[in-house]
Amino acid sequence: MAKKSAQEIGLPRLTVSPRGAARLKNGHVWVYRSDIAAADSIPPGSLVTVADPKGRPLGTALYSSSSQIAIRLLSSGRVENFPELLRERIRQAIAYRKLVVSDTDAYRIVFSEADLLPGLIVDRYNDLLSLQVLTQAMDADLAREAVLSELKQQLAPAAIIERVDSRVRELEQLPPRDSGVIEGTKTSTIFSMNGVRFHYSALEGQKTGAFLDQRENYAAAERHAHGDALDVFCYQGGFALHLARRCSQVTGVDSSRPALEVADQNAALNGYDIEWMEANAFDLLKDYAAAGRQYDTIVLDPPAFAKSKKNLDTAMRGYKELNLRALKMLRPGGVLITCSCSHHVTPPDFLEVLSQAATDSHRTARLMELRGQAKDHPVLLTVAETSYLKAAIISVTR
Ligand code: SAH
Repeated sequence: MAKKSAQEIGLPRLTVSPRGAARLKNGHVWVYRSDIAAADSIPPGSLVTVADPKGRPLGTALYSSSSQIAIRLLSSGRVENFPELLRERIRQAIAYRKLVVSDTDAYRIVFSEADLLPGLIVDRYNDLLSLQVLTQAMDADLAREAVLSELKQQLAPAAIIERVDSRVRELEQLPPRDSGVIEGTKTSTIFSMNGVRFHYSALEGQKTGAFLDQRENYAAAERHAHGDALDVFCYQGGFALHLARRCSQVTGVDSSRPALEVADQNAALNGYDIEWMEANAFDLLKDYAAAGRQYDTIVLDPPAFAKSKKNLDTAMRGYKELNLRALKMLRPGGVLITCSCSHHVTPPDFLEVLSQAATDSHRTARLMELRGQAKDHPVLLTVAETSYLKAAIISVTR
């Protein structure tokens, strides 16, 4: 008889409903709480053996006692050694980046489900690593130790900083924890992408710091940019700094003063002359359009308007208004780089709203490129939620 490992013998068992089983068989990795048919009493954050209603094994998953996403599949087989599996997947994630990332020392190393490491995000900013833990299972000491030790071994960073999303910890019923340095002491650095340099301060800013998912789109935007440029929702200047290399004049607009202060430091670091304006983008575009202002290049990169399906309609109205105004403000031959980072807005939805804006603007608009997130934020085809960013590059011919 084959010997069973202690861990395997100890794994609680969980049975999913026929719908939950179908989801897993179709390659998704999440099963919602409403699709759990039966379960042993399971401690929060445990590894569980998953079975279909007939008792056939479906794999091994990470369990959350509080999230609506009750399990996230880790493997369709048995997991004999969880810490070693985490280490192996981190090595695979790093190897994949070696294939797809170039011209930067800042990129996402681990993208949760898309790297088969549900609940873990790791970003690299030059010599610093920024880590986010989003589930009970990844927060367990055993998982944290394995992740940290493998990251140190593979990448030898100057420091590792944990960025805590307190709302996520609350939802996962995890004890509160502060963001902070968990390895080393350094918390700021300078990174570069596509030859543009950026200040990075690990304990400030949104997301894990910069919008690394736009790196390939910055380069694409730069290829099309010319003349007078307006970067709307510019944050710390990601697009504006790239545009500055090709445009005669660049203005960046954001409602966040701290973001604009970093943007200004970034411009100085690169020796670019960019005008930064603190304003509400909706009001500013309305005023500028009314005043007959014209541009050759406009970037729109708003925050996620549709955080859930419920506010999809409002989100669509927001996209329509912004894109309509931008299209009207472009000179013939001008280019619009327009983005949406809500997963709930699908590429067809986004194209539909852009086509409505084009109709109402009475302009002739051509779609030159429809792009997504940079390849270090991989999209798992069977997990639609891993795909979220859309960037359309549109030329206005007349
Ligand atoms: N383009 C940026 C990322 C933009 S993130 C980059 O590539 O780095 C969205 C930005 O929109 C944030 O910086 C946020 O401060 C800003 N923002 C949100 N609502 C806004 C509003 N109503 N007007 C102007 N800026 C806004």
